[in-house]
Amino acid sequence: MSSSRVLGYAARAVGQPLEPFTYEPPKLGEHDVRVSVTHCGVCHTDIHAINDYYGITTFPFVPGHEIVGYVSAVGRAASGLKEGDRVGIGWQGRSCMQCEWCLQGEEQLCLDIVSSGTWVPYGGFSSSVLVDSRFAYPLPDTMPSEVAAVLVCAGITVYSPLRSYAAQPAQKIGIIGVGGLGHLALQFARALDYEVTAISSSPEKKEQALAFGADHFIVSDDQTSLRQVVFGFDLLLCTAHGKINWEALLNTLKKNGRLVLLGFPDVALNSTDLVTHQLSITGSFLGNRATMREMLSFAQAHGIVPKVELMPMTEVNEAIRKVKANKARYRIVLVNDTADTGA
Ligand SMILES: [Zn+2]
Ligand SMILES: [Zn+2]
Repeated sequence: MSSSRVLGYAARAVGQPLEPFTYEPPKLGEHDVRVSVTHCGVCHTDIHAINDYYGITTFPFVPGHEIVGYVSAVGRAASGLKEGDRVGIGWQGRSCMQCEWCLQGEEQLCLDIVSSGTWVPYGGFSSSVLVDSRFAYPLPDTMPSEVAAVLVCAGITVYSPLRSYAAQPAQKIGIIGVGGLGHLALQFARALDYEVTAISSSPEKKEQALAFGADHFIVSDDQTSLRQVVFGFDLLLCTAHGKINWEALLNTLKKNGRLVLLGFPDVALNSTDLVTHQLSITGSFLGNRATMREMLSFAQAHGIVPKVELMPMTEVNEAIRKVKANKARYRIVLVNDTADTGA
C-alpha cells in the first residue's frame, strides 16, 4: 500500500458530498506510523468540518477520525509499535509536544491544535492514514474494531470529564441527551458507580436509556419531572446539541454544581442562577493520552460497548446523511473492505 496512491473520500468544497479521491501517501516522519484503515466511525464533528463550521477546514478534505487499522510502516524514532499491530486513533493524531500544555501531559490543549487533527493532511475515510505513533493506541486483543473506533472519540469525550469532575463516589449525575455520546456516558457513569439520570427530549428513549445504565429517566421538556430534581445533581453532562432549556436544567444542579458541555449546543444563560448558586460551566475536549489508555482498559474491563451500525465505506455519503438526520442508532462505523490488513 505504501508505494501506491491512497484512496480516500473527499469533499472538494464546503458542504459538498464526498467523492473518491486518490493522493500520494504523505511522507513518513521519524515518529510517525502509517496505518491501513479497516474501520472508521462517522461523527458529527466530521460533518461540521465538511461544512467548515470550525473555520479550519482545507479542501479537498478527507474526514474521518474514529479509526482502527493495522500499522503498515513505522518511523525511525517511533517506539512501542510494529508492523501488523492493531491500533485505534481518535481526533488528535499528533501534537507539538513542546508547548506548556503538551509538557503537562494535556496534549488535547496543545497550542497548535489546528495542525494536530488526524484529518491533517487526510483523515480516516481512506485506505490509510499517517499519524504520530504516540497518538496511535494499541487495542485489547478481544475488543472488536468497531467498538474501539467509537471509543477513541465518543468514549474519551465522555470518560474524561466523568473522571475529572465527578471524582467522588455516590455523586448524582444527569446526562443530557441519549445519542452517540449520551448512550456511552450512561454506561461509563454506571460503571463508575454514580447515580445516573438520563435527560432526553425523546420519551421513547426511556427503555434504552435504562438498559444503558440510567437509574432514572426524565423527559427534558417535562417541567413537573424537572421540578422534582431541583438542586438534585452534582454534575450535568450535556451531550445534546441544538436548542436547550438551560434555565430549567441549571435549576437541577446542586449549589456549587457543574455543567460540562461536550458538544456544541446553542448556549443562552441567565446569570442569576449561575451567580447565586455558584454554578460552573466547563467545556471538555477529548482527553489526554494517559486518559485515553485508561479509558480503553476501563471500557474493556467493564464491558462498555457502543451500539454500532456497520456500513461499507463506499456508502459514506449515505452514512453521513443518516448521522445528519439523527437516524444513527447510536453510531455508524464504516468498514473498509479494500484495506490492506498489514498482516
Ligand atoms: Zn468523533
Ligand atoms: Zn503542544
